[in-house]
Amino acid sequence: MAQSTETDWVSRFADDVIAESERRAPGKPVVVASGLSPSGPIHLGNLREVMTPHLVADEIRRRGYEVRHVLSWDDYDRYRKVPNGVAGVDASWAEHIGKPLTSVPAPAGSPHPNWAEHFKAAMTDALAELGVVYDGISQTAQYTSGAYRDQVLHAMRHRGDIDAILDRYRTKDKGKGKGQGKGQGKGPGQGPKQQQKQQKPVDEAEIEAAEGSGAAAEDDGGGAGGYYPYKPYCGQCGKDLTTVTGYDDETTELTYTCTACGFGETVRLSEFNRGKLVWKVDWPMRWAYEGVVFEPSGVDHSSPGSSYVVGGQIVREIFDGVQPIGPMYAFVGISGMAKMSSSKGGVPTPADALKIMEAPLLRWLYARRRPNQSFKIAFDQEIQRLYDEWDALGRKVADGTVLPADAAAYSRAVRTAAGELPGTPRPLPYRTLASVADVTAGAEKQTLRILGELDPSRPLASLDEVRPRLDRAEYWISSQVPVEARTVVRGEPDKELLGSLDEQSRESLRLLLEGLGEHWSLDGLTTLVYGVPKVIAGLAPDAKPTPELKAAQRAFFALLYRLLVSRDTGPRLPTLLLAVGEDRVRTLLGA
Ligand SMILES: [Zn+2]
Repeated sequence: MAQSTETDWVSRFADDVIAESERRAPGKPVVVASGLSPSGPIHLGNLREVMTPHLVADEIRRRGYEVRHVLSWDDYDRYRKVPNGVAGVDASWAEHIGKPLTSVPAPAGSPHPNWAEHFKAAMTDALAELGVVYDGISQTAQYTSGAYRDQVLHAMRHRGDIDAILDRYRTKDKGKGKGQGKGQGKGPGQGPKQQQKQQKPVDEAEIEAAEGSGAAAEDDGGGAGGYYPYKPYCGQCGKDLTTVTGYDDETTELTYTCTACGFGETVRLSEFNRGKLVWKVDWPMRWAYEGVVFEPSGVDHSSPGSSYVVGGQIVREIFDGVQPIGPMYAFVGISGMAKMSSSKGGVPTPADALKIMEAPLLRWLYARRRPNQSFKIAFDQEIQRLYDEWDALGRKVADGTVLPADAAAYSRAVRTAAGELPGTPRPLPYRTLASVADVTAGAEKQTLRILGELDPSRPLASLDEVRPRLDRAEYWISSQVPVEARTVVRGEPDKELLGSLDEQSRESLRLLLEGLGEHWSLDGLTTLVYGVPKVIAGLAPDAKPTPELKAAQRAFFALLYRLLVSRDTGPRLPTLLLAVGEDRVRTLLGA
């Protein structure tokens, strides 16, 4: 392996991939690959399938090589089940189970021509926003145009050899052998290549029953009537519930019958385009066809009979090709996605994440962890801490104190070989923006006033300066924070509470109000709210905090929250005070 000047995982894979590509095809573009099945909303976790090769491809481009990132849309896969909770879809879609995804109608009201295109579109938009450059290949287009003709005929001619390879694993895998390809997941939004587990929709079992027994049982092409690695879609009902009953190598005549509708016919495979190779043969065929040097897959594919392992034998022994470098990537979890925002089939998608965080942040989550490390994407309060960490990293990059691996991850997040990704001109802290959005409920004028007062030495001319980060924080508050947890500023002072205060509390409020004018900025108010309890305790403004002082500060803050928002807690006080506004603060604190 070549010595890398950088120390992150992306660089190390790039070294290996360049070396391997030079060995195989000197001077040719480097080919990396991903595969996605648009069988439903594409889960955010499956973004790793694309981001892993994207980051490696981008590093290789930065080094001046030409790279082709093949994104295979597995849209010629069979429609396996009706995902639950997708708008415009009901149980009647079950009648399409067994057809290619491109032959299933799109959800009602969709502008897209079919099921696959509908779910591809959302992913395509997200990938564009993320700066992912790729060469999208529709497997429907490939198969139905006859692009794989030679490969299909070749596989059929060598069906005995393929069967023998598969058989080495069948014995080890008895009773489990459904051959789920690159992933075990079969839920909506996941095809054979994807491993992301999903929550099972409540009434999925009911819909699944409509699929019928044995529907997917022939995935590796095995069957009582002999082994055939190719499966036609039925000429009458369009489904893949077909059984090949005979094949003539000389004439390429293939005979099949359909178990769904009883149709049967004999076709000539040298000119027939309505079918596909079974997954365990399809995948290695494409490695050879495209010359793929790097393609990751889900971590559950290290097992002996997995399609990656079997594919390694098939690509070498049948297609005279080489298995790609194929790291297994670990599970990506989601923390705290509120039910209300999971409107697209109960599945968090990359588009959902991009509504609450900027593209560079999402890229960073993937860049900073090695593929075999699992991590979570935060839709809950954790996103505020994540953004703090991201901003701290940005400051370290700016002042040159950053560690090399962290610098590499940052660079991969904010730019690609093609240039910088759009960012926020003035990236104010996400938690501050979220607090302001919480209090203002998105009112623009009020938001501009408050954000302008954060730092009076650098007034804000327009909200555009803090966008798109502001929009993300506003959307996070409105979509992920339940209404009952939002901050509601009191309309009238709490007379009862004000009347019950002891002398010390009244003096604290008086000191606070007295200092408001000269401390009306984020830093100033921070000094003020921490300073008032010090003055009351007779301490100097720069006094070290003692346990007693900390207790006094906590009590003072709780009092302010009660008087301002009728709760014991809320957004950070300096932000809250700015958000409430000086006049209203004076009214509510009893001046
Ligand atoms: Zn049929």
